[in-house]
Amino acid sequence: MVETMDPILAGRPQMAAARLEQAFSDLAACEICQHRCAVNRMDGPAGRCGAGAEPHVFSAQVEVGDELEVIPAYAVALAGCNMRCAFCITGDESWHPQRGRWYHATAIAGRASAAIESRRAESLLVLGGEPTIHLPWLLELVAAMPENARLVLKTNGLSTAPARAILAGLFDVWIVDFKFGNDACAQTLSRTPGYTSAVCETLQWAARDTDLIIRHLLMPGHVDCCWKPVAEWISSHLPTAKVSLRSGYWPSWRASDHVPLNRPLASAELSAAMETARFFNLRLVP
Ligand code: SF4
Repeated sequence: MVETMDPILAGRPQMAAARLEQAFSDLAACEICQHRCAVNRMDGPAGRCGAGAEPHVFSAQVEVGDELEVIPAYAVALAGCNMRCAFCITGDESWHPQRGRWYHATAIAGRASAAIESRRAESLLVLGGEPTIHLPWLLELVAAMPENARLVLKTNGLSTAPARAILAGLFDVWIVDFKFGNDACAQTLSRTPGYTSAVCETLQWAARDTDLIIRHLLMPGHVDCCWKPVAEWISSHLPTAKVSLRSGYWPSWRASDHVPLNRPLASAELSAAMETARFFNLRLVP
């Protein structure tokens, strides 16, 4: 087991390369996310996420749709996810592990480095699907990036301690989605048992290891049950954390099966959400 390391970024590519063997070993009895399937992914897809040992990339391009401090970013989206959010904006493009195609991580690192060198991008942003289910590929990517490149990981926060130990000190910024304020909504809308304790554990770890941005997408009809408990938890446990409150919800994929997720956010809901953020004195970032 790799222990959590001091997040000093000197030698980051070497640190990533040195952890590769452990990362492949972890896939052989995969418990790197909250679902803890304990299956061997080295022989092919076997667990709940349906991902094997190597990810497909379904998008790799410069993007400007994320938090201001990380854009423009060369954004690399890996197919495959351990959640099934009914309102997923990319639908099966992101959760189906066979969407897109396989690229060697060094090829993607070359493109990202070129974008950063030419100032078309300020950082490399890795997202999904869920990128942390693809540990070996992530390590290969980091190992191939220049030492001083700004690396950003966007995750749903379901990684377990062994996965976080592999990733410790490798990314400058973690953007963690805190989607649901209670386990019932998480189970109904994303088929994820044990959601809140798993995400809160990751958030507290990430606040120690890296520059953390907590993201919450406001969902219609879920301001009271999801945003308010999320805001209260942040206020109690990570009061100085940066919070990115996203109001651009759009009903996608299977949202129409979960009324009221079949409509955009109402302006009154946005006002109530902002009032909650003010009440808890949260540090909102654009
Ligand atoms: S990453 Fe998670 S869902 Fe996928 S096989 Fe491993 S434990 Fe299961």
